[in-house]
Amino acid sequence: MNIHRASHLGWCFGVRDALELARTEAASGPVTSLGELVHNPAVLEELRQHGVLTRHDPADIPTQRVLITAHGASRRRLADLNDRGFQVTETTCPLVHRAHAALDGLVRQGCHPVIIGQSGHVEVRGLAEDHPGCDIILSEDEVDALRERPLFGVVSQTTQPIARVHGLVARLRARFPASEVRFRDTVCQPTKDRQEAAVELARECDVVVVVGGPHSNNTRELVATCLAHCPRVHHVQGPAELSPAWFHTGDRIGLTAGTSTPDGMINAVETWLRQLAAAHAAPDTSDGLHPATRRAA
Ligand code: SF4
Repeated sequence: MNIHRASHLGWCFGVRDALELARTEAASGPVTSLGELVHNPAVLEELRQHGVLTRHDPADIPTQRVLITAHGASRRRLADLNDRGFQVTETTCPLVHRAHAALDGLVRQGCHPVIIGQSGHVEVRGLAEDHPGCDIILSEDEVDALRERPLFGVVSQTTQPIARVHGLVARLRARFPASEVRFRDTVCQPTKDRQEAAVELARECDVVVVVGGPHSNNTRELVATCLAHCPRVHHVQGPAELSPAWFHTGDRIGLTAGTSTPDGMINAVETWLRQLAAAHAAPDTSDGLHPATRRAA
């Protein structure tokens, strides 16, 4: 067995900076994050112990100070929180700000706004709330159901796979040949790097392990990308969810992780896999059991 790490994986600078700012803010008293600062239960628990609470509904915020996550928020939402007397700190990623600016610019040019992304996702909500009447699409059927407009302005959620985004823009142009479609590529570079590295990895490996929280959109997208190139893909939050039965002697095992997965969790999964590989390689452990399994037997 060989273990291969993707050339790009794990935390992006946007998540790292947001967490650092949250910890700095919490050092001077409890603060509430509106939404999950990072889609990883272990990291959220660590933040809670440092005084960073998480709430999803603005009506439930128990502190005077509020954090906006790296996914950002609409101007409406920020104004509402300020009007209600909260002290708001934005940890919004600069690449999310860039997506907001791109959409605002297209609307100023007279375009009908279209967002490629998940309609319930906090980043997409933040983009859409400032442009009532905009369309949110994620499938070719949704493109086909759009109303014709003379001028469309399209941006994307920062964590969408770029191939999907290009495909939907092409479909929009084909569906409305008389319309002009202006597209701004707002998929962030860390997402592109991780997606590209995941494709390479999945093509080269017999089985791929993707580490990340269950609510992390970019982790789920990495799983889907890997599945397009490798039939054996497993999404886990950490080593406790791995099963020795998923791996066979001689397998090339790929390892990748979403942008909200801490280095420590990736390393723990890699250590588990290396122990399993060593057990498969050792002559006296030909039962192929993971050391933890053998100890329990
Ligand atoms: S995934 Fe991209 S947009 Fe989101 S926080 Fe990371 S770098 Fe920023």
